[in-house]
Amino acid sequence: MARLVGLLNTEYMRLRFQYLRYRLAFRTAVRTAHGLWTDREGLLVRLTDEAGRVGLGEAACLPWFGTERVESALAAAGKLGEWVESECLADVPLNLVCLRNALAAAQGAWASPLEGQKDYLSVAALLPAGRAVLQAIRPKAEAGFRVFKWKVGVGDLADELGLFDDLCAALPAGAKLRLDANGAWDRRKAERWLERCAERPVEFVEQPVAADARGADDLLRGLAEDWPTAIALDESLTSGADLERWIGEGWRGVWVIKTSLLSDVAGSLAQLQKAQAKVVFSSALETAVGAKAALHWAMAWPGEPRALGFGVWPLFQDARCDGPYAAPFIRSMDVARIDTEAVWNAIH
Ligand code: MG
Repeated sequence: MARLVGLLNTEYMRLRFQYLRYRLAFRTAVRTAHGLWTDREGLLVRLTDEAGRVGLGEAACLPWFGTERVESALAAAGKLGEWVESECLADVPLNLVCLRNALAAAQGAWASPLEGQKDYLSVAALLPAGRAVLQAIRPKAEAGFRVFKWKVGVGDLADELGLFDDLCAALPAGAKLRLDANGAWDRRKAERWLERCAERPVEFVEQPVAADARGADDLLRGLAEDWPTAIALDESLTSGADLERWIGEGWRGVWVIKTSLLSDVAGSLAQLQKAQAKVVFSSALETAVGAKAALHWAMAWPGEPRALGFGVWPLFQDARCDGPYAAPFIRSMDVARIDTEAVWNAIH
């Protein structure tokens, strides 16, 4: 985990700094609590050292997930100038978490791979919300997926609980289901679901209640204590400060971590490791540039391996910006092969 930290302490280096704003249409609009999301916006950064080595990073801004807006990252990138020093991160304000992440990743791209990389990790298949799930499960199971993620809290409670029974009956032997409510439930609905989950092969229920609901933290802790199914935090973890708070409180459930949205990935992961956290590494719907860095971290995580939340590709209308297509496994070799320069050229 020391790779980026080590690099940032290297001696003075003069680097050419370039950046590029991107706006990429999704193949299919993504439904979020904030409405339909049609385009992914962000910034790619590119550092070249005097030896001609190039490193790329991505600021995959998601303002409703606690990061800066792309305009703020862009303005700060403009101020850095064409030539920067290797310590340029010191000039980037702390609240610009995605820009800081991008610069650290661009510098880290020169380093040798993180130690202890796993050869491969399994990937959770994304299932569509609502009744469409029953058609979608079979081809995914036949493709070899054994961990499935289903969005819930979208339709009527009784209808969804009925679909849940049908879905469980259709799961292949030994498969596990992740339910993601994206904060859509109140306590009563969450309890109805958790009661139903108790005897089912549910790995965890993700963000049953909204992170900004009144008393949300207490409610999440209560649900985790009262029911046997694990609870995962996702929207409750929108910053390094959130992470520290939940670590301090000794959260024993699951942590959904989008490393692309963390300012100091190495530092945050070291804290989680110390807390023996159950971590699920997850996509922030970034391009292959950000995904490469995120998957590197996931492959190097020393804790118990869990299926990756990266079953998202093909994602963009411009397929040149996609990561490796959704397969039941991603190998370290596939991650190493991701050609970040090709994404830069596609956007240029
Ligand atoms: Mg989620």
